[in-house]
Amino acid sequence: MPEKNVANDMKQLLSLTIMIEPDRRRLARFAIDAVQAAGGNVFAAAVSLDAILSDLRGAGTGAIEPSRAELSVDDDRMYLTWNGHRGLLSRLPEKLSDVELNKLSEQFRRAGESTDPELLRRRNQEISAELERAKVRAAAEMAGLEAALDRKKAELRESIRVAETDSLTGLMNRGAYDARLHEAVARCQRQHEKLCLILLDLDKFKEINDTHGHQFGDEYLKRMAAAMRASVRDNVDLPCRTGGDEFAIILFADMAIARHAARRILERMEGRTSIGITELRNQDNTTSFVARADAALYEAKRQGRGRYVDFDSMTPQEIREKA
Ligand code: GH3
Ligand code: MG
Repeated sequence: MPEKNVANDMKQLLSLTIMIEPDRRRLARFAIDAVQAAGGNVFAAAVSLDAILSDLRGAGTGAIEPSRAELSVDDDRMYLTWNGHRGLLSRLPEKLSDVELNKLSEQFRRAGESTDPELLRRRNQEISAELERAKVRAAAEMAGLEAALDRKKAELRESIRVAETDSLTGLMNRGAYDARLHEAVARCQRQHEKLCLILLDLDKFKEINDTHGHQFGDEYLKRMAAAMRASVRDNVDLPCRTGGDEFAIILFADMAIARHAARRILERMEGRTSIGITELRNQDNTTSFVARADAALYEAKRQGRGRYVDFDSMTPQEIREKA
């Protein structure tokens, strides 16, 4: 039940910061002294105090929650207030006069201000220990957050890898090819670096499927992927599957190296693929670059398949025929 009029005439006797066990004991001693000085029932006050003080312990930890405790008098009642709670400590036999109140308040103020070196030392120790515990807790939380972040990054990298990969051959898929080619053209032009585009299309692949079955065809596509990977540099050049039996390599090197890669692929595939190559020019954009590689591939097919053609070696007539 709420106490009546407590806020009106409340006179504060003492205010203490409670941090460690000796603070609690000190508060208890002052409270009992105050009840006694005001003529209250000390034993009844001790019982109330016990319940009030046990509340100053942190839940379950045994540690004390730092808090402010105040001892105050209103009319004929003495209260203890802490952490926003107020408990009736004692009913006094009669209302204390202002003179008595001021005397008590002054007495406790002086007592409250007295500094006990041992108390200060222990308070210091306790606070340092709590700070150390907080530091350890924060470090553990940080480590947990960093681990979670690393997991998320790895998941994201994996999702990107899956989204960019052709599931049959493990090569980069069409979407990744388009994006990477665009980037490669822009970067190599800006940096004046060599770049070649190699386009490849299996020869008479429909016949392979028809003769040996679709599953054999799939294995053949994987074999082509392996031949491409084995003929270029790991983690530098980008072999891609751009369509059914169509492939491409974004090759960060000059025409001589591109020709060499094309020869190696032809060897590995026993000459059953056609290949067109071109090297990036200053005035190129992605479309003109792809168009030349495509013209060279068409020319390789036209000349009888199982070979590579590099656009730069095509005669004007061959170029006109393609156009
Ligand atoms: P060309 O020499 O002119 O290229 O003749 P081609 O028979 O290879 O003709 P084309 O390139 O038009 O045929 C591609 C074939 O690839 C047709 C299609 O059935 C087959 N194909 C496309 N995707 C797959 C696949 O994932 N697995 C298999 N086994 N076959 C596929
Ligand atoms: Mg084909």
